[in-house]
Amino acid sequence: MSGPRGYRVAVVDYDVTANALYQTADLPSGLDGEYHDPFLDAPDGTLLSDPRFHAQNVYAVAMRILARFEFALGRRVQWGCEGHQLNILPHAFAEPNAFYSRDDRSLFFGYFESFPDKQDNTHTVFSCLSHDVIAHETTHAILDGLRSRYLEPSSPDQGAFHEGLADVVALLSVFALPDVVGAALDGTTGTALIDQELLEKDKLANSVLFRLADEMGQEMSGVRGRALRHSIMLPPGKDYMNDPDWQEVHKRGELLVAAMLRSRRLRADEMLRLVRILDNVLNNTSLILLFRCGSKSLLFPGDAQIENWSYALSQAAVREKLKKVDLYKVGHHGSLNATPKSLWDLFDQKSDVDSPDRLQSLMSTMAHKHGDEERRTEVPRQTLVQALDRQSAFFTTQSLKENELFHETSLDLS
Ligand SMILES: [Zn+2]
Repeated sequence: MSGPRGYRVAVVDYDVTANALYQTADLPSGLDGEYHDPFLDAPDGTLLSDPRFHAQNVYAVAMRILARFEFALGRRVQWGCEGHQLNILPHAFAEPNAFYSRDDRSLFFGYFESFPDKQDNTHTVFSCLSHDVIAHETTHAILDGLRSRYLEPSSPDQGAFHEGLADVVALLSVFALPDVVGAALDGTTGTALIDQELLEKDKLANSVLFRLADEMGQEMSGVRGRALRHSIMLPPGKDYMNDPDWQEVHKRGELLVAAMLRSRRLRADEMLRLVRILDNVLNNTSLILLFRCGSKSLLFPGDAQIENWSYALSQAAVREKLKKVDLYKVGHHGSLNATPKSLWDLFDQKSDVDSPDRLQSLMSTMAHKHGDEERRTEVPRQTLVQALDRQSAFFTTQSLKENELFHETSLDLS
């Protein structure tokens, strides 16, 4: 019999159209520990044409999808069909199609001739090489195991749920492969950083990551760049549900996919919020620098906030040093918690009147960028600005003229 085969999946390489049983894919068993992939360094031409690789590919992708479900659920997941082993036929028939059949306990993957290119050449397109198609069909078999009656004829929404979930799994399962995601975005693999521009909403939505079965779609339609499905591009609307065009289960399933992917995009905003929280935490790891130059003390607290300060101010020796500050670079752009009142009260050189010894303060900030006046979190905090202005020789970058890039300040260190 053909292979590879394991307890859950068996590749049976039988071709109905050609009425041929392909030779066994004689691959290493991996039972002796590590699996040595015989195709690790094989050129693309070999991967595309060698039926043994096709067999390995369907086996690996199907098992990976099954493993993800089992990992998420924390238990074994049974197939919808009887028995513990699902058959996979990577070269089942000469048709641009693939499907799951409960009665046959099998996934069938077809192959077909591509549209002729400019030189009138065609090539064979194998659906068993498409990660998206394999993941999609495997999900049908798994969902059938979880909810067996979902395959019974009912409303179009039921079939659409099968198709939509299968598409969602196919699309999202790619994100667990960082190398593939990197290659799909900018053609590089490995640990290289991705250009932020490529992660903009529209660019991302148009990327191959959100298109399903790119090659299949292209070769079936003869239109370059046309994926089988590109659900994320569907404009939101309420008319789909009753539109006869959207009763067909694959099309209707796209509505679920679009809704899912859009909600994932919402999650990107949540991710950003998390980053901001992290950023706040990082502010509290800021170094507070106090320089002593000649007779003067210069305080540069960076982005230190209240938690930083409460530790520093709890120490009498530190408090003593802070009393003598001559120049204060206002912390964290003048934000609420960066200059605690207990710190401000310590500065002995504060004065309402100008004198050579008067406290100097410098603030780099930009108003109306952060925080909220009503909630008294605006940056810079107005009460702080007023105190600085009244009791120190105060300079803020807000008073820089349009062409000025910096402000010079001098301090007599004698
Ligand atoms: Zn399907």
